[in-house]
Amino acid sequence: MNAGQTVLVVDDEKQNRSLLAELLNNDCRVILAKSGTQALERAREQRPDLILLDVLMPDMSGYQVIQALKGDDATRQIPVIFISALDSPADEERGLDLDAVDYITKPFHPSIVRKRVRNHLQSIHQRHLLENLAMIDSLTEIANRRRYDEALENEWRRCARSGSPLSLAIIDVDHFKAYNDHLGHAEGDRTLHRIAQTLRGHVNRPGDLVARYGGEEFVLLLPNTDAQAAAHVGNDVRAGIEALQLPHPTSPVSRHVTISLGGMTLTPNGGQVDPKFFQEADAALYAAKAEGRNRAFWRYAAS
Ligand SMILES: [Mg+2]
Repeated sequence: MNAGQTVLVVDDEKQNRSLLAELLNNDCRVILAKSGTQALERAREQRPDLILLDVLMPDMSGYQVIQALKGDDATRQIPVIFISALDSPADEERGLDLDAVDYITKPFHPSIVRKRVRNHLQSIHQRHLLENLAMIDSLTEIANRRRYDEALENEWRRCARSGSPLSLAIIDVDHFKAYNDHLGHAEGDRTLHRIAQTLRGHVNRPGDLVARYGGEEFVLLLPNTDAQAAAHVGNDVRAGIEALQLPHPTSPVSRHVTISLGGMTLTPNGGQVDPKFFQEADAALYAAKAEGRNRAFWRYAAS
C-alpha cells in the first residue's frame, strides 16, 4: 500500500460516501461517484486502483456496473469490492461470481472496512511491483521487449486517435561482437548497462520509452514527436554514447564504443500496428551501417 493509490467510492447515499471517504482518506486518495453512470466515467478517466461499489442504486445496480467495468478493456483489471445491504449468502455469492474481490455487508464496521481495504491495496501494490519487474530487462535495468511491444500498441492507437506523429528508433552497438570477444562478456554486459542508462538519460519525456530489444539492440519509442524532433533526439543519443569515450580497441569505426541508429516517423492509421513501421526504421539502421556506422539516419512518411 502507498499514499499514491486511488480508491473510487460509489454509493448513491451521500452519508455513506462521506463516511467511507473519511475512513480511507489517510490511506489513499479517494474519489467519489453517486451513480453507476458516474462510476463508469470516473473509472475510465481516472483508472483507480480499487473500487468500492454499492449494489442498490437507482440508475444502475452495482451488478450492472461491475459487468460494464469487466466488459471494458480500460477498466477490466480494476478490482472491485461490493459494499451492500444485501447480506444473504446468495447475494454475497452472486457478487463474488461477478468477479468482485470481496463483499462487505452493510451496516459495516468502519475499522473492518478500513483493514480490508488496506489489505487489498497492499496486495494490489505488490502485484504492480511484480508486473513492473516482469517488464524490466535484468541486465540493463531498462524496459524489456515485452514492455516495448505493449507500449507500441498503446501509443500507436493513441497517436492514431489524436492524429499525432509517432517515432521509432532502432539502435545497434557498433561491432559489439568484436568488443565482447576482445574484452570478455562481463565487460560487454557492463557496457550494455552503461549504454542503456545513457539512452534513458537522453530520452525522458513522459510517454517516451527506451527498451532493450535483444542482444545489443535497443529501441526508442517517441510518441507525439515529428521527424525533425525525433532526428534531433537520434543525433543527440548517438553523440551521447560517443561522448562516454568507452574504449573499443578492436572497432574499425572509432577508438570508442559507438552506435548506429535508424529511425522512422509516421502518423499511425487504424488500430493495428503496421509492421512497415519497424521495417522502415530497420532499413534506416541498415543504411546508417552501410554508410560507415556511428551515425543516425531518419526516415519519415508524409502524412
Ligand atoms: Mg445504495
